[in-house]
Amino acid sequence: MTVYLDHNATAPIRPEARASVIEALDCVGNPSSVHGTGRSARARVEAARSLIAKKICTRAEDLVFTSGGTEANNLGLKAGIAAGATRVIVSAIEHEAVGAAARALGVPCDVWPVTADGTADMQCLQDRLQRAEQEGETPILFALMAANNETGVIQPYEQAGRLIREAGHLYHIDAVQMLGKAGFDFAGSMAHFAALSSHKVGGPQGVGALAVACEAGVAAQMIGGGQEKGRRAGTENVAGIAGFGAAVGAAGGEEELIRIKGLRDALQARLQAGAPEITIWGERENRLDNTLCLSAPGWPSEIQVIALDLNGFAVSAGSACSSGKVRKSKVLEAMGASSADAESALRISLGWTTTEDDIEAFANAWLSEYTRLRPRAAV
Ligand code: PLP
Repeated sequence: MTVYLDHNATAPIRPEARASVIEALDCVGNPSSVHGTGRSARARVEAARSLIAKKICTRAEDLVFTSGGTEANNLGLKAGIAAGATRVIVSAIEHEAVGAAARALGVPCDVWPVTADGTADMQCLQDRLQRAEQEGETPILFALMAANNETGVIQPYEQAGRLIREAGHLYHIDAVQMLGKAGFDFAGSMAHFAALSSHKVGGPQGVGALAVACEAGVAAQMIGGGQEKGRRAGTENVAGIAGFGAAVGAAGGEEELIRIKGLRDALQARLQAGAPEITIWGERENRLDNTLCLSAPGWPSEIQVIALDLNGFAVSAGSACSSGKVRKSKVLEAMGASSADAESALRISLGWTTTEDDIEAFANAWLSEYTRLRPRAAV
């Protein structure tokens, strides 16, 4: 059986989420119908909305359900443009759900660099805000993720939020990897918008949400019925939303996070002991407890992923695109990593299903493949 260590790509469904999905699927009812069955479907949607809102310290009415993190990011960015932003500035390490979406907005799109430690460069932000003030620039829409999907490095998103807000600009956060893996306080972030996704927390795929600050509006991209207070038309994915809520309710407990961090740290120590020359990205940074991103120069990411797959382990290069091809890690390149490092990155992401035995078996397999395969490549 495969040992699954790719929770940042998608997490196995949690039992609580599975039960909620099945229960909701077994009940007929359109949440917009006024009769009893409709009202019970509505109650499921609203219970999930309240639970997720509470988890991220916001009001239930500030959440708009979407088809996932990608749609939520697109909706937030487009809302920023509708609110008057004439330029967008996105961090260099954004997921394409933000990066590509920002480039398609039809306004100038600039890159906000990151430092070698993988965090957004705050000096650059301050300089850019100062320039905008001097030049009297109209609101800029800034986008920064809360935690990076490859390295797990948690961004200074609250600090950035204070500066961006004080200067009167707009701010979108991609919190897809943060939800359920570390605390995310939407109110404290000062963002206008934040994107969430169910399947990264152990809920079903194809459902997410956009948190919208009460003073911000959303320009609906899906036009039709008046669902989601006119912000996203279409009959709600009741079962998906119910599962999303249940997953959020079950995820992120202190005990779970401590257990996962213990496993990740033990794995890191084993790999470093057997292969001291590897680089661990974000090692000294505040990073997600479940993520371990390493580079093993001379052993290309794609070959590592395939070799480990053949040994029964599912891990990721961190930079796989939707076609499944593995490319050089753009995140590591943005951090100034050498080509050799960017081409040999591997992301191991743990989660609620991960056991000590998984970690032990993975460490043994990785070290033995490393010894067998790496010397063939020029370092
Ligand atoms: N943002 C980040 C940081 C992600 O890691 C992902 C998924 O890989 C997304 C957005 C997209 O979310 P979804 O798969 O729900 O569309």
